Amino acid sequence: MMRIIGLTGGIGSGKSTVSEYIREKGIKTIDADEISRNLTKKDGAALPAIRKFFGEQVFFEDGTLNRKALGNIVFSDRDKLKLLESCTTEVVDRIIRKELAELKENDFNGVVVLDIPLLFEGGDQVLCDETWVVTCSYDIKVERLLKRDNTTLEAVKNRMANQMSDEDKIKLATYIIDNSFSLDYLYTQIELLLLKNNCI
Ligand code: ATP
Repeated sequence: MMRIIGLTGGIGSGKSTVSEYIREKGIKTIDADEISRNLTKKDGAALPAIRKFFGEQVFFEDGTLNRKALGNIVFSDRDKLKLLESCTTEVVDRIIRKELAELKENDFNGVVVLDIPLLFEGGDQVLCDETWVVTCSYDIKVERLLKRDNTTLEAVKNRMANQMSDEDKIKLATYIIDNSFSLDYLYTQIELLLLKNNCI
């Protein structure tokens, strides 16, 4: 039997840290961000729609996407973010569903973790047997993002402003992963959840 776990959390909550740990354990994961990056790499399937809506200003001369320019536009404007998501989310969703259908067809037995930042926003929790939400306080997220991204406080705050609140995500979660403390504490919680699902 295939068991599908949806993993999500706000920007800077520690989703990637969690999914990397799970992947290292040899557990099957499907990463929505990675699929999205593939769609937006050179000649990727989402680029024509992005060019149509955002114009040449978000492209370099060689036709690759200028992620920083695009990020600056969408992270301070909720409508533009929605527009960008409409260029990619639907296709990402289709690819994820196709991968799951293939696994099912091949009688995949075990856990698959879907790492989807916009899991609830896109309604993809319906695909999942259970969902995990990674969370920590706003201040900790800001502090970690500033350290990771070498950016400004304003840019970090803008990115975080256009998100579903943790409070709403927690309401929809089966399990909550508290990432307010050490990495060891984070990993212990993951181990427990994996044990519960019989996959370690
Ligand atoms: P984004 O939504 O921007 O992709 P994310 O939710 O995937 O972010 P991560 O990249 O996993 O978050 O974590 C943000 C930063 O915080 C990273 O630099 C990561 O190494 C660091 N980090 C994560 N958890 C902890 C922890 N418990 N203690 C210290 N640093 C941590």
